[in-house]
Amino acid sequence: MKALFVGAELVSGILQMKDCVEVMDGCFRAMAKGDAGFPPRFAMPYPSGKGALGMMPGYLKKEGVFGLKATSVFPGNVGTRFESHQGAVLLFESDHGSLLAAVDAGSITRIRTGAASAVATRALARRDSKVLAIFGSGTQASSHLEAMTTVFPGLAQVRVWSRTPANAKRFADAARGWGVDARECHRGEEAVHGADLVCTVTGATSPILMGRWLAPGVHVNAAGASRPPSRELDSETVRRSRFFVDSRESARLESDDYLVPLREGTIGEGHILGEVGDVLEGKVRGRTGDSDVTVFKSLGVAAEDLFAAYFVYRRASELRAGTMAEFGPERWPAGGLEL
Ligand code: NDP
Repeated sequence: MKALFVGAELVSGILQMKDCVEVMDGCFRAMAKGDAGFPPRFAMPYPSGKGALGMMPGYLKKEGVFGLKATSVFPGNVGTRFESHQGAVLLFESDHGSLLAAVDAGSITRIRTGAASAVATRALARRDSKVLAIFGSGTQASSHLEAMTTVFPGLAQVRVWSRTPANAKRFADAARGWGVDARECHRGEEAVHGADLVCTVTGATSPILMGRWLAPGVHVNAAGASRPPSRELDSETVRRSRFFVDSRESARLESDDYLVPLREGTIGEGHILGEVGDVLEGKVRGRTGDSDVTVFKSLGVAAEDLFAAYFVYRRASELRAGTMAEFGPERWPAGGLEL
């Protein structure tokens, strides 16, 4: 069997944000209908202590594929020429279990995470949203800026706060270069004041967004703090919101943004109103009025990676792009190899 290898550059060319938003919409709906599944993700630390291998398996029933996102996580790589997360999404077909494709995981993760938040924003935010605040200035900040402008093309202003002010300025300069009215803010509260949409996409370990700052009607995408122990949202943000997640099970296992206020007693067991797929499928009501504060807590799930990788695999196959390699029975010469 031949498997297709698709590298980062080709993924970025094929997986346009506007397409990925629709792919993530389909992903969340499939999850709500039981057509996509995944066990909890797990990580294997490497003995040197420098890094770990993160593994996210899952399956897509209708597409007849299953697979695994395998990424090494080496935090010490930040600021070097190596990425902190590197790896591949492996796709297998479900008739005989053959490997179909290996797709660059970094570019898939970058694009699908913003697109997932875009789907939640389209479902939960006020239609007249005009001002976006972004907390963070890294890879996901860029992805979320592109994602938010994809679903809200009429955004009038973007404010950016980042822990390192020079990075907030660099990000705002770049956004202005793309024609966005962007400005850097020195305090998080300043960025949030008057914002309709807020995206938190940082590596923060303790809350950076305070509920007392939020005006009625705001929608928040909280996509950082995707592994414990880490938080971006204070308990008040969670308490006063209609609170939605990508996956209930993942939130119960992995989200300190949810678990800490639950342990404190600030919120109760029923505080998660639903998965975003339940809202899309009309099983759960999202926003009930213009003054609701809504939160989408994104942890990132294997189904997103598999749907995005499957889209890339099909499109690359149509375009005859990528590199094919033979996987399967070994074909040694009858007499063995001459060494
Ligand atoms: P980058 O390394 O590109 O950017 C990290 C950002 O976080 C920077 O803006 C940095 O600010 C900021 N930051 C780091 N530490 C802190 C801190 N202690 N307090 C406040 N800000 C901090 O990372 P990404 O953009 O790729 O990822 C951002 C977050 O999103 C991470 O937590 C990552 O795990 C998570 N993530 C979630 C996914 C999901 O599916 N939900 C998928 C992918 C990533 P500065 O540079 O100004 O210091």
